[in-house]
Amino acid sequence: MPPAWLDVLAADVPLVEQLKGQIRGTVLDAMRILVDEKFWEGGGGFEVTDRVRVVIAAQLAFQTRFIGLDRLAAARSIIVYQGAYTQSQERIGKDGVVHSGTSNLGEAWFNGPVVLSWDHALREARRPGTGVNVVFHEFAHVVDATDGVLDGTPPLPDATTRGQWNEVMTAAFNQVQQRHASGRGDVIRPYGLTNPAEFFAVTTEVFFDAPHALRSAHRDVFDLFEIAWGVAGQ
Ligand SMILES: [Zn+2]
Repeated sequence: MPPAWLDVLAADVPLVEQLKGQIRGTVLDAMRILVDEKFWEGGGGFEVTDRVRVVIAAQLAFQTRFIGLDRLAAARSIIVYQGAYTQSQERIGKDGVVHSGTSNLGEAWFNGPVVLSWDHALREARRPGTGVNVVFHEFAHVVDATDGVLDGTPPLPDATTRGQWNEVMTAAFNQVQQRHASGRGDVIRPYGLTNPAEFFAVTTEVFFDAPHALRSAHRDVFDLFEIAWGVAGQ
């Protein structure tokens, strides 16, 4: 591990920097593998430096520390733009686009690259606790899609858990909808109400970035996310 990478973690990725012992070793190993094995590319003339790779890979290693890197196999390339980027028409696939619109912070494609805004990835890495994190969001889509369907249900250990998942997530979706409609608001932001896949991705952001907020607002969702992300029993 180049010493400069540890400096980057200390300065830019407090979620990883604060880890101790064996789990820190696991995350740093995964980070190094991601830096080495993913194909990193700059979009729009952006130069991908070691700092860029380390900041993004560290968050990704943190997110997948208990489920393993195999779940990310479909995302072979990570394309990084300086800021919110504009889609070029020829890159919009028929089925592959997760986000549409003219300007995006990030995108995940079926078996395709994940596209990220560096400005957002860095800012959110440096300031955890807001419940907003573009890296966690996009790679939640990648993990969601590992079973072949982007439906907001990630791989789960058994049929019982899948049954609970459907019940709990449907109830939570309706509750979050009502809270936003009534003006009370919720830790799960309104974008999550776009569809079940976005609900999973947005809730994943809160789960990793502001876990206490999710736990106190949606305890049953939190418990299932611990199972889905392999945190339960750790
Ligand atoms: Zn999304």
